[in-house]
Amino acid sequence: MRVTIDFDKCEGHGLCALTAPEIFWIDDNGYTQFVAEPDDAERDNVVRAAQECPVRAIQALEDGQA
Ligand code: SF4
Repeated sequence: MRVTIDFDKCEGHGLCALTAPEIFWIDDNGYTQFVAEPDDAERDNVVRAAQECPVRAIQALEDGQA
């Protein structure tokens, strides 16, 4: 799967980093960082983080999706 974040929407609160810390984290400058192609074992965590993002900035795409 692939992960993208729309940084025009992201407000950097870090809820995703709490929900799926293996995939999302806030760097020392306060910017959200993420693993763009996480292991399939992280799918549920990524999907949950995407659902819980208050501004819906996270997109989780299955392989083959545009
Ligand atoms: S939960 Fe959403 S708004 Fe908050 S840091 Fe993560 S991507 Fe950005």
